[in-house]
Amino acid sequence: MHAFDYQLLPIKVAVDSYCFFGKLENISKKNAGNMVNTCFVQTQKGFVVIDSGPTYNYASQAYEQMQKIAKIPVKYVLNTHDHDDHWLGNSFYKSKGALLIGPRTYEQNVVTGMETRMQRSLGNVLYGKTSIVDLDTIVDDTLSLKVGEKLFEIKQLEKVAHTKGDLVIWLAKEKTLFVGDLVFNGRLTSLRDGSLLGSLATLEKIDAYGAEVIVSGHGFQTDAGSSKNFKEYLTELKKEVLKALDDDIGMEEVSKQVIMPKYKEMKLYDVLHVRNVLDAYSELEMMEDEEE
Ligand SMILES: [Zn+2]
Repeated sequence: MHAFDYQLLPIKVAVDSYCFFGKLENISKKNAGNMVNTCFVQTQKGFVVIDSGPTYNYASQAYEQMQKIAKIPVKYVLNTHDHDDHWLGNSFYKSKGALLIGPRTYEQNVVTGMETRMQRSLGNVLYGKTSIVDLDTIVDDTLSLKVGEKLFEIKQLEKVAHTKGDLVIWLAKEKTLFVGDLVFNGRLTSLRDGSLLGSLATLEKIDAYGAEVIVSGHGFQTDAGSSKNFKEYLTELKKEVLKALDDDIGMEEVSKQVIMPKYKEMKLYDVLHVRNVLDAYSELEMMEDEEE
């Protein structure tokens, strides 16, 4: 018996590619961290998992579902970035013999034995056997990984975007792009560890792939237009914050000024928008200072 039944059901998003879609909410004991998307790709040699999810228990239940599709091993886990809702299932896959691949920031920020945000939120029962494991391979820039008949092109598009180490995974033949948290849909993003300008630059590069399927770390939309709304939010945020700077509006006032009511109904607006405005303000103010 599991301490928590995640009720994971894989949804096919492209040829041989499946995802488990998490809820559009923050981490809570009620969802046990199931607020993130994780995916897996079937190859002739085994599965390749993209992000391992919030807990050991989650990963083991994901694995049970995968085995219903094919009784093959998990060869690799590709980690899109170092936020812990995306990779705390790594210890499970490691115990199954998978190799872990991820960005440099994982090596820098993920320390064995540290208490994670997930652990604090869930408590020890739900956190269960979750533990921190090191990566086997670090990607600084690009890595091409051939697994069976499939080629995974892993790439960091910008130095800073959602975090300081975000990897996308491109399956060219299948025109499928896994973008982690470089795209959100149906809920707001958090700019806390990243950059507004870097995020916007990344979105241009994502568009240039000409992907038919774009799978994000949060949100249910996976079509070619799944980044559209997100791009509009960031573009408007940039425009409005720049205007506030032009009008000499101070840091204390700016969050009252830049409300962007169009996004008020968006999930997590109440939790994240003000913080995003302040982060954007600091970043753009610094940029303007440098230009002067
Ligand atoms: Zn994230």
